[in-house]
Amino acid sequence: MQAMVLRTVGSPLQAEDWPIPTPQAGQLLIRVHTCGVCRTDLHVLDGELTDAKLPLIPGHQIVGTVVGQGPGVRGTLPLGTRVGVPWLGHTCNHCRYCQSGRENLCDQAQFTGYQLDGGYAEYTVADERFCFPIPANYADLQAAPLLCAGLIGYRSLRLAGAAERLGLYGFGAAAHIVIQVARYQGQRVFAFTRSGDTQGQQFARQLGAEWAGSATDPAPEPLDAAIIFAPVGALVPLALQAVAKGGVVVCAGIHMSDIPSFSYDRLWGERVLRSVANLTRQDGEEFLALAPRVPIQTQIQAFPLVQANEALMALRQGQIQGAAVLVIPSEGGGTQVSSGNHHGLGAR
Ligand SMILES: [Zn+2]
Ligand SMILES: [Zn+2]
Repeated sequence: MQAMVLRTVGSPLQAEDWPIPTPQAGQLLIRVHTCGVCRTDLHVLDGELTDAKLPLIPGHQIVGTVVGQGPGVRGTLPLGTRVGVPWLGHTCNHCRYCQSGRENLCDQAQFTGYQLDGGYAEYTVADERFCFPIPANYADLQAAPLLCAGLIGYRSLRLAGAAERLGLYGFGAAAHIVIQVARYQGQRVFAFTRSGDTQGQQFARQLGAEWAGSATDPAPEPLDAAIIFAPVGALVPLALQAVAKGGVVVCAGIHMSDIPSFSYDRLWGERVLRSVANLTRQDGEEFLALAPRVPIQTQIQAFPLVQANEALMALRQGQIQGAAVLVIPSEGGGTQVSSGNHHGLGAR
């Protein structure tokens, strides 16, 4: 099968021909249709996350069809089922975190496209207990970003609490989904982007932000919570300054540059600063049930699998509006999905 492979941290992915993996006990063999590209993939490629298996097939927002089963699968996702494979790929089930509903913090967790081969390939294998059925109303392309941008964005939104006035710092794949859930819940949204990113600000307003501006601009009024999606530590003191007393600041990314020191005044008044790590399967079930009700529409930019490096570069340079998704052509030359720009939200 064709796969895009990370051999050396800091180098581009290489197109390679790998054998189709054999599903082991409890695993599904999945024919990959699409795989979302996530900022976490860049952190893996750049070595900012230091536990990657090498060589590695990245990718943890996988949409595909079950085409094989290892021994002992329970059969809850039979052959032919369209499934999603998220970032959380394995937990130990017995540590104090697993035993207390916090499997996202499992001491022995393994993650798709990091310690387990992921979806930048024609096939992948995954533990059936960590796969989700994909809601029927979503095409393969539009479903892919739900699996990390959507899911971890949803967990971040939940942990931000019942904020009437919500700030989003960084308006990429996750924020463009979270804003739709927040608006559905009646929250008012304020979007903060890189300074000068007028396109990103316009995109945020189009999706229902009542204000959009630069991250260094003062918020037009105090916020009740803020979620930081951009991997920029300097945003932490800014977001703390923007929230009112009792406000919550959630850092949603897996990696962030160092946080500059700041005066205790910014935290005083029972402001809360916290991170969000990974996902639980319950997050996934809740979010994928909620998505069609909102209904969340993802805006995606498609790239063929062999252009994974180009997709990653475009993400790195801030050129993706919405989410980048890799398309894996099906055998026989036909494609289930065409590549190009797909605007699930109408013309811009
Ligand atoms: Zn555990
Ligand atoms: Zn991700």
